[in-house]
Amino acid sequence: MELADVADDITEVLLTQEQIHAKIAELARRIEKDYAGENVLLVAVLKGAVMVMADLARELKMHVEIDFMSVSSYGMSTESSGVVRILKDLDADLTGRHVIIVEDIIDSGLTLAWLRANLESRGPASLQILALLRKPAAAKVDVDVRYFGFDIPNAFVVGYGLDYAEKYRNLRGVAVLAPHVYE
Ligand code: 5GP
Repeated sequence: MELADVADDITEVLLTQEQIHAKIAELARRIEKDYAGENVLLVAVLKGAVMVMADLARELKMHVEIDFMSVSSYGMSTESSGVVRILKDLDADLTGRHVIIVEDIIDSGLTLAWLRANLESRGPASLQILALLRKPAAAKVDVDVRYFGFDIPNAFVVGYGLDYAEKYRNLRGVAVLAPHVYE
């Protein structure tokens, strides 16, 4: 779905498909260098990070494994609950693996802090984070994001995997959702 297809539901286009793909290519080149000769496992949290995962994995000119887990998140609301629950765990054993967490967006950083601690406890050889989007609040939180895409304003955004009530995930770009949609 194009941003133009939902023009009435959005107030501002933040990122086009082209901008996102250029950034993912840039991050992929860094990962190829940093992990040359290593066996990398990309881990993403469903469902928001699915698009980043799909594009990043295909952009990388090296073998990678991919795995997914599902944790509770926003639901129908637009604010983070801070409550994280594993709904579906990873299939892979992380022991001794070089793991990169692939994230869509960091807001309060609560989800990521929890995820990092949880995966760290499984004994990976290394653990780094890639996040495509970061909101202002996240800049204040001390989460060490090695590969990072764009800073965005503090607004509720949809597209490129991010939903509102399970809609808009299939938008090619990222846009600010108009308040009339959720008010
Ligand atoms: P945090 O725990 O960092 O506050 O929130 C992280 C999660 O909240 C993200 O993985 C994402 O699922 C959701 N989230 C945060 N901000 C937004 C937003 O602007 N739009 C959407 N659709 N989800 C968001």
